Amino acid sequence: MLEQKEIDVLKDIWNRDNKRFMVCPVCGGSLTIVQLSPVYKSGRTTVYYKTVIECDSCSFNIKVESCTVYGAVKSFNDDEVEISSWSSTGSRTTQVYKHSLDRKLLEELKSTGELVEFLIVDDQVVVVIG
Ligand SMILES: [Zn+2]
Repeated sequence: MLEQKEIDVLKDIWNRDNKRFMVCPVCGGSLTIVQLSPVYKSGRTTVYYKTVIECDSCSFNIKVESCTVYGAVKSFNDDEVEISSWSSTGSRTTQVYKHSLDRKLLEELKSTGELVEFLIVDDQVVVVIG
């Protein structure tokens, strides 16, 4: 499981509006993404990226496979969320992921049907970006 500080760093990377520099949550040094290669998974319509983030000054690092999915919450329970979105070819698709999202947020997204971007890390939805 990822720690909150790691999730925060990942969130910053995918948040396009974010103007902050990537800063190490441990020592305040600058972070570097050292690798970004696509990973194709069977049964998944989205492309994952192997992402390694390292601090230039201390031993802090994160190694994950991550992606973002733009879509709406179709259904959810305590462990899993079903996201309705589009595949790279433009057809409708529904994918189920484990999640660590707030129940209230999920209820709201489900009732409004709002399209949002989900950050998925190691096959788990960790945060809604916007
Ligand atoms: Zn550091």
